[in-house]
Formats: sequence, structure tokens, C-alpha cells
Amino acid sequence: KGLPDGDINWTKAPCRFCGVGCGVLVGTENGKAVAVKGDPKSTVNKGLLCVKGYHQIMCLQAKDRLTHALVKKNGTYVQTPIQEALDLVASKMKETIEKHGKDAVAMYTSGQSTIPEGYVASKFMKGAIGTNNLDCNARLCMASAVTGFLTSFGADEPMGCYEDIDHADVFVLWGNNMAEMHPVLFSRMLEQKNRRGAKIIDFATRTTRTSMAADKSILFKPQSDLAVANAICYEIIKNGWVNTSFVEKHCSFNKGLTNMGYGLEDNYKFKDKPEKIDFKAYKKFLEDYTPEKVEKISGVSVKDIKYMAAYFGDPNKKVVSYWCMGINQHTRGTWMNNLVYNIHLLTGKISQPGNGPFSLTGQPSACGTAREVGTFTHKLPKGVVTNEKHRRLAAKIWKVPYERIPSKPTYHATEMFRAVDRGEIKFIWTQVTNPLVSLPKTSRYRPGMEKDSCFVVVSDVFPTPTSDVADVILPASWHIEKSGLYGNSERRTQHWDKMVEGPGETTPDAWMTIEVAKRMGFGDLFPYSEENHVEEIYNEYRQFHEGDKHGMAPLEVLKSQPGAIWPYVNGKSTQWRFNAKYDPACSNNEDFHFYGKPDGRAVIWQRPYEPAPEEPDNEYPFWLNTGRVIEHWHTGSMTRRIPVLHKAMPNAYVELHPKDAERLQIKNGDKVKLITRRGEIIMPASVNQRGIPTPLQVFVPFFDENMLINDLTLDSFCPISKEPDYKKCAVRVEKV
Ligand code: SF4
Repeated sequence: KGLPDGDINWTKAPCRFCGVGCGVLVGTENGKAVAVKGDPKSTVNKGLLCVKGYHQIMCLQAKDRLTHALVKKNGTYVQTPIQEALDLVASKMKETIEKHGKDAVAMYTSGQSTIPEGYVASKFMKGAIGTNNLDCNARLCMASAVTGFLTSFGADEPMGCYEDIDHADVFVLWGNNMAEMHPVLFSRMLEQKNRRGAKIIDFATRTTRTSMAADKSILFKPQSDLAVANAICYEIIKNGWVNTSFVEKHCSFNKGLTNMGYGLEDNYKFKDKPEKIDFKAYKKFLEDYTPEKVEKISGVSVKDIKYMAAYFGDPNKKVVSYWCMGINQHTRGTWMNNLVYNIHLLTGKISQPGNGPFSLTGQPSACGTAREVGTFTHKLPKGVVTNEKHRRLAAKIWKVPYERIPSKPTYHATEMFRAVDRGEIKFIWTQVTNPLVSLPKTSRYRPGMEKDSCFVVVSDVFPTPTSDVADVILPASWHIEKSGLYGNSERRTQHWDKMVEGPGETTPDAWMTIEVAKRMGFGDLFPYSEENHVEEIYNEYRQFHEGDKHGMAPLEVLKSQPGAIWPYVNGKSTQWRFNAKYDPACSNNEDFHFYGKPDGRAVIWQRPYEPAPEEPDNEYPFWLNTGRVIEHWHTGSMTRRIPVLHKAMPNAYVELHPKDAERLQIKNGDKVKLITRRGEIIMPASVNQRGIPTPLQVFVPFFDENMLINDLTLDSFCPISKEPDYKKCAVRVEKV
């Protein structure tokens, strides 16, 4: 701000924070990052950034940066040369495998890892060591979106792109406080509202900044979104708004899949397999969800249910649905994803400019890294471990014996940390993530990590509650201190070049993984050079896509423009998948072709409403909901070190409805105790401030490691995706 451009060298990168993936220009001068501005050439943000984006490089000035490796000796951390620390990590990992077998070691990575970092982690664990004990933190935020896509379409990731915003007449936000969580996309929507009169409908459990800017705010009781979505489908059918030709040509109807499994076609472990039903049976099922019946379950009026349904049903209105954690962090997250797809499929409002269901991501590379290069336990790059063809392809590209890649998924995130506690996992390495703040019911997992039975390695940029329990802390390079690639919510892969040297012995995560792999005797499999490993790894990853129509753009393309959307075919990004007008992979001469499914048809699922696993009662009469605020990103390990953001939002708080506050004689700023069956915490009250929850509900942001609300949440999860539900459990509220 206020700096002359004179000697500043501006270089493009995607933003370090959220999944919107805004383009930033980072200004460097004399080897230091000195300024940030929005990249006007970025089609994502067109030069605009949010408050986090503008201030991102200021975290590099934090005094407590991890600059050297630290090894715990007799309870004290001792600064250790990085090469020595990597020797120790490799020898401990090797020793653990020799003594206890390869399934006694695990890695836990992140949607903030770059694409090459995620790829080498996958190759290291699955191809070199031969264990599927690799999962990533996107399990906590995106897994239900993945299983939703797979069950409905047989292919993961949104089919549309951000350009939909420029064409839509109506935006329906499902439990999605976009004004704070995806602010730049929200600004783009507001621009369309102001310019063209596009409507914003906010469907949520609390009044937020999003509701205040929306044309219509509709509040519902937690968990009852399942019922409301079904009521919308009921209305669409009752009023004859079904796009019959689309449904007849491109959809089938299913029920089932209500038990355990990883949500993969070839790995269902469900008691009730998918069962085909017909339209008549589906229509009959919806009779339990008339607006009148659903009003009683949800608190949403008949009028408001009809209001939402009418927009979807109007053939002259283009509608985009957006959602993120409100739907995904749900014990029926997969079902809720399916239900939004049902609405769009019944009306044929899908994968055309301005029409479509669009699940957003929270991390900068939740799509590119977590979902695409094999960092989930059940995934391989562009494939799944349960599929022989996919394992054979990975074995060929990685040049490892086919038999080495195990065919069964192992631990998903929360289960992985339970296995640490049970003593099954004796070595764990976390990279770019902070599970001891982000896991649900966090306190359950801390003792296991503190036990001597498990050797804990943490790679990070700053100290966190997770690094506090590590045996070895490895100093990671930050974003612009290395080259990399991220994949954002609209399937856009973006590359950036290293801009500044990191302090001390900070090292890119991919290179640390490679160095450990070499020390363990896998050097042949990791023949990359330190200078060019990002390019070499990305080019190797592209081999997984050779010869298909879902390819990734060559690196030169990603370098010379603000990224490219995959599938990248014949030198072009595919902006709308499954639509033959835009997607060359549609091969059956139809207007739409859902080629992820063997019959090319998307599935409309019969998904009932069911109550939440823990509901308020006399002892714990409130709902507890958790989430984010605009100033802080995730567990706050970076944004809390940015002085201007920390000053704006120094600590967590509990939002109460004014009537509840009055009844309990709580004023804004008073200390309040929250008590759940898992623990208790004291924090200041927020009354009539930024957000207002519905009566008998409280909201707490989770960014504050000193007021760790995740200690109190429930760790039950969607049985299909294994994604935990942070959005609802029962809590008691007391004035202190
Ligand atoms: Fe960064 Fe997200 Fe803000 Fe864009 S909206 S500047 S990607 S934090």
C-alpha cells in the first residue's frame, strides 16, 4: 500500500488461503516479499482480493517462524541440522516397518499441499512402502462432496465453473456463508445482483453477513435440510415442473447405500446395495415430504418452500446452487449432496452456463491435491486403490511391482488418529495441517499423539498445538518460498514460481518426502532434481491422464496464463463437463452424457430425512454450530500471525440469539460457559453483532487454538464419506 511500483518485481501466484483460488501478484524487492495485489488478468477474481488475500504475506514476518528442524531430546526441543533430522525420520520409519509391518506407519497430508507434494506422498506411501495409510485433511471438509459426486455422477468435482455467476438469474446458497467464506465469489454475485437483478437466496441455520445481503433469507432447523430438499422435489413434481425429456434421457432412480463404505462403485460395503426404482416409486416416496409436513420438521414455512421450488421449477430462470461445509460436514453429507443434485437433475438445470449445482472447497488445493493425486486412503492419482486397472496403471508409471500397491483402503482421518491412540499406528507424519485443532472432539486424539508408543513427525511453517506433541518438527517452506501448483474449486490448476528464499533451513514438503524416501532405499523411484522437482513430478503425474479425454494441461500452458481448467483437451479448457456442447468426452451423440456412470445416466437418489445423532434435550438444550469468520483461515495458524487480522478478530466468541441472551441475562462481551457431553469451555458472548443464530442455537468460530471449540464437538461422521459433522451437537449455555 502506497509503495511505488519502481523496483518491485510482480509475480503471479494463486492465493495461499481458500479454495476460490484468486490470482494474486506478489511484489518482491531485494529478495523480500513486500506487497500483494489482485491479479487483474485472473479470470477468477479479476483483480479483487479479500482481506486475507491482501495481507497474506504478512505472516512471513511472524517472529516464531519454524526455521530449523527441532528434535525432542529428554523432553526439550533441540535445534538440529535438517539433514540429521531427515536421517532420524527415515530411520524411525524404517525401524517401525521392520518391527511392526508397513501398516504401522502413516502419513496425514492436506488440501494445502501442492499438487506435486500430494503426488509424491501418494507415491511414497502406496507405491514405495506399500501401505494405504495415507489420508488428508480434506476428509474433514470435502469427502461428502466427493462421495456425493461419485454416487450421483460416477465422477468427482463440480461440472461447472465460476463463469456460471455471470449467467445465473438465481443463486441458492445451501448453509453457505459465502460473504465470509468465499468473499470474492460473493462479490462477483453481488455485482450480478446490482447489475442485472440476479437474486440471492440464503438458506441457512443462522443470520449472517450473507443473509443481510441476500434477497431472501430462509432459516431452517439444523439437520432438516434433508427434508426441505425433498419437499422442493415434491413441489417440482406436483406442479409439473420436471424437465421430462432430460430426465427420461439422462437420469435413473436409485435407493439404498445407507451403511458403511467409501462411496466408490467397486468398494461398496453396504448392506443395502443400490437398487433401481422407477419414477413412480420415487414420487410415492416424496409424499412424506409435502411442504405442510416438512414445515413441522424444519420450521421453514410452506410459503418459503414453495418460493424456493418455484425458482428451480421456472424454465426461464437459470439457477446455481452453492454449498460447502454446511452440507458436507453432516452425518448425512453424501445424502444431502445427492439431494441438491436431485433438484437440478429433475429440472435439467445442470452443467450449462448459469445452471448447475456447485460444491465449493475451503482449501487452496482441496480439488487439485486432495482429490486428484491420491492422498485419500482409497485413492490413487486419477484412480482408486480398489480397481485393478488403476493399480496396474500406477504400478507401471511408478515402476513398482503391481502387488505392492494394496487394494484395500485403510484409515480415514478420524480413524487414523484413533488407530494412533489404540497403538496400531506407531509412526505418523503430518504435513501442512493441524489436526489437534481441526479434528472433531479434539481432546480424544491428543493423548494418543502424546504417547511414547507413536513417533510423531510434524512439518509446518509455524508452531501449532500439533507440533507441540511432535518428536521431530520439520521446517516447511511457505507458498511463495517454493514453486508449486494448486487446483481450485472450479477445477482450475494454477502454477507459480518460487519468489523468495525461505529463512534458515526451511524446505518444500515434497523435497522432504523425497529425501526421506531416498534414505529408506527408494531413491530409484524418486529420481527428481531439487531445482526442477515440481516440473518433473507434474509431468510424471500427467502420464496418468495420457490418452484420455480428461487430461491436465501441459505445464507451459499453466505457466503462461492464469491456469487452465481440466479436462484440458485439444488445447482447450472444458468449462462444463457432461454437456456435449462443451465437453469432448461426451461420446454418445447425446446433448448430455454422464460418462462416469456405466449407462451414462446420472442418478436421482431416494434419500430420507433422519434426525441428527445428538439433538438438544433438557440437559443440553441448545444446538452448537461451528465455522469460520472472514478474518481467519481454518485453524488460524497463519492468519492469527497477521497483525491486522488478529487485531480485527483477536479471539473466538459465542454468538447467541438476542432472546436467549435476554433470558439468560447475558450481555455482549459477558463470559459464557459452553458445556457438551465431551467438555466445556469459557468464551465471550456475541449478541447482536456479526451473526445471529436461530433461537436455541449458538455459533462459535474454530480458528482460536486458545478457545478450542472442536474439543466439544461430536466426532460422528457420514457413514459413506467418513466426514465428521461439526455443524450440530447438543450444548448447555451458562453465564459465568
Ligand atoms: Fe484468497 Fe479466498 Fe480471499 Fe480469494 S477469497 S483472496 S482465494 S482467501
